[in-house]
Amino acid sequence: MAAFDPEPTFEGGAYHPTLPNGRISGTLRVSHSGLTFTSTRGTIVLPLSGLNMEEGGASNRLLFFRHPSQPDWSVYTAEKSLLRHPCFSHDRTITQQKGQMRKHRWLRWAFAALFILGIPLGLWLSKGPAVKVIARSVPVSWEEKLGDLAFEEITKNGRLIEDAALSKQLETLVQPLVKGVNSGRYTFKFHIIEETDMNAFALPGGNVAIHSGLLLRADSPEEVLGVLAHEIAHVTQQHGVRNVIESAGLFLILQAFLGNAEGMAAIAVNGSQALMRLKFSRDHERNADETGWNYLLAADINPKGMISMFEKLEREHEERKKKAGAMGGIEAPDFLSTHPDVKERIVVLQAKLAKLDRKAGFTTIDLNFKEFQNNLRNRLSKKTETKPDPKP
Ligand SMILES: [Zn+2]
Repeated sequence: MAAFDPEPTFEGGAYHPTLPNGRISGTLRVSHSGLTFTSTRGTIVLPLSGLNMEEGGASNRLLFFRHPSQPDWSVYTAEKSLLRHPCFSHDRTITQQKGQMRKHRWLRWAFAALFILGIPLGLWLSKGPAVKVIARSVPVSWEEKLGDLAFEEITKNGRLIEDAALSKQLETLVQPLVKGVNSGRYTFKFHIIEETDMNAFALPGGNVAIHSGLLLRADSPEEVLGVLAHEIAHVTQQHGVRNVIESAGLFLILQAFLGNAEGMAAIAVNGSQALMRLKFSRDHERNADETGWNYLLAADINPKGMISMFEKLEREHEERKKKAGAMGGIEAPDFLSTHPDVKERIVVLQAKLAKLDRKAGFTTIDLNFKEFQNNLRNRLSKKTETKPDPKP
């Protein structure tokens, strides 16, 4: 080991209010009598006993020394090797302060490491496969709560159509599909919402809503079922739940693992808002098409309806786009939420259809579809008639 130079000097500086610019550079020296700072303006000595040390400056690069006997002076150096001076190892308060600084330095490193490692870990946990695994571990009651809260929020505007006769007909319409899906986990509830656009959406837990505009413009029960099969697939594949988990991030994931019901409920409230805000990814849409298509086949429902409904939606979308013109920024329905891909999605489904062994002989839906549409139309006109006049 090299011998320690007993009188080494360290480059540094000092702050004092009477100095020009408040600062001067000079050298520091350590001896038993104290820390001596020498500059062109003279010398000051800070006694070792009662000396305060502190790290500071950018990235804590500097060591600052102060002493109560010289309250306006602050002496600093960037040469931390000064702390290794033997005189410092004799003083108890100084060794304590050295220990504190080491501890703080260690903590800063630990935080930096956590930060650097934690971000990719968090990102990994909140993306892709991890989210899928976590979504599967979520209890169905939580999904239902999440979906019910969102549904309440969406139908607050009073556009939910509650009509026993229509509900019964809708039930008859969807029953073969629900049978084909044969979900052990979800109980699907179907609703009609008075909206003119051709849209439908599904929420976690099993609420499926169909806009009246879609029901009235469909030409067959199979077309409606094609859309509903796609929507049901969003539920069974937990696309909405996965979106919420991704947006809530690590917090929700931790809650899910800790099984904290209260925390989960709180997140459900925020999550229900996130549900309405977040759109499905293209992958989710393609996956819902594929899964929905398989549901139709399992239910023995002619899947051609799905394709023709897609084409109708695409045409409507094009028209709306034209109408919106330079205004831009039109709200795309869920079915078209990834509208640049709809044409491609249609092509994919047509290829599936071409590969099918049979093109006919599917189950017939036991519903007078025209009558159902008429009932709905009547109900809507009644609703408009009974609307209160906004003017007094
Ligand atoms: Zn969709």
